[in-house]
Amino acid sequence: MPVASRYNLLLPLHGEQQTLVFNTLRGSAVVVQPQDADRLGVYARPGSGSQPVWRSYGSHSPEVDQAAPTDSPGCWDTLLQLGILVETADAEERTLAAFLDDYWHPRTLKLTMAYTAACQMACGYCFQSGRNLKARHSPALFQGTLDFIEQQVKCHPELEGIHLGLFGGEPLTDVAMATSYIDQLQILSQKHNLSLDISLTTNGLNLHPDLILDWLPKGLKYVRVTLDGPAKIHDQRRPTHGNQPTFHRILSNLRRISNIAGFGLGVSINLDQGNEGAIGDLLDILVEAGLRTQIEILLEATLPTYKLGTLEDHRSQGLRMSTALDQVMLRGFRTPLYPGLCTPCNFVQSNNFVIDWSGNLFRCTFTMLDPQAVVGSVGEGARGVNQALLQSVRQAVGHCRAMQCAYLPLCGGGCRYEADLRTGNWSGHNCPLEYWDEVLPRSIPYTLGI
Ligand code: SF4
Ligand code: SF4
Repeated sequence: MPVASRYNLLLPLHGEQQTLVFNTLRGSAVVVQPQDADRLGVYARPGSGSQPVWRSYGSHSPEVDQAAPTDSPGCWDTLLQLGILVETADAEERTLAAFLDDYWHPRTLKLTMAYTAACQMACGYCFQSGRNLKARHSPALFQGTLDFIEQQVKCHPELEGIHLGLFGGEPLTDVAMATSYIDQLQILSQKHNLSLDISLTTNGLNLHPDLILDWLPKGLKYVRVTLDGPAKIHDQRRPTHGNQPTFHRILSNLRRISNIAGFGLGVSINLDQGNEGAIGDLLDILVEAGLRTQIEILLEATLPTYKLGTLEDHRSQGLRMSTALDQVMLRGFRTPLYPGLCTPCNFVQSNNFVIDWSGNLFRCTFTMLDPQAVVGSVGEGARGVNQALLQSVRQAVGHCRAMQCAYLPLCGGGCRYEADLRTGNWSGHNCPLEYWDEVLPRSIPYTLGI
């Protein structure tokens, strides 16, 4: 007799006439009548947000593992295929273990490449403040980085592809080096029969259609540009080193590349108290510029550079995100299913390295200025500390499993950088349950178009 999945979220729709059941482990969804929802949500407890969601969190009596969720066998097959019903609770735990194993051991070598520290901007909140802006890969370091990548490929026959994330500093201050990395990785990936995907994270000042057209056939899949508000707000937060405005040049560049097909274009907004009231104004400008259907909006909390005790609580983060999300939804922009920082979290994934301008290796871009976060270098490879750190941070999900948290497949145990900021320990407790309770009842029905 099938039982309900403990990864079902129940989201009331249309004045509670219907319920959206969303399964976080399978990413599947179905709309049902409220009485059927009760049987599909036997583990569910009410969330703490301003819009209702029911989800598993905390212990439950053992008999719910045996509960038959519905008396209409005709639809069991569909619900079983969707993972909203499962054969047994134990079988579902094995599925979760396999899911986590895949999540922690991706078959893509993911490289976030900060080959230059240079940047034209002087953003007040930059998590890289204080770096040497002149640092960049020398020809020898360029070659050393390629050798490191090839070594990783040879040591990991399970790899199926390479992802090159162009990062900085500002990657487009040195287009020649970016293109050299792309060209060399194209050769390397073809030699080893691997796919090559490229993404670009840029401040947008040097974006140009010719660049996109050159990189598209080589594997460019995504471009991400930051705008923090309308000109008045953005230019205060993201001026040049000479305190010159940047908003209009970036917007113009965005428009010039937005009609080129074949890649995703995201406008990311660093969200905090300084710009939360101006998100609607920025979005109106983007609509007016004809960009509503060409871009997706990436809302992310502004994270501080390494410093203890500077983070907001998760509920406040969730409320701010929800308010901004409402503005995005009101105007019909695309936005991710799970709003916020990196999903998945690079920190906990093998085959995943941030390479900085000095050739040091890190697990997460936000740790790049913390000497204690160095896990190796392209010259020596990953040190033993890398594997030890990976094993230690993955243990954060022990709490999630003990709490039988329905958010585990999408949350992964919480951001490890935030955990370090809050507790002084990468493996520390950082549970954003209240954040998810607040934002998911908005984002899930919206992005599914329900
Ligand atoms: S630790 Fe946090 S900031 Fe770093 S990759 Fe993971 S989710 Fe992103
Ligand atoms: S860290 Fe995430 S998955 Fe773990 S209990 Fe908290 S909300 Fe759930």
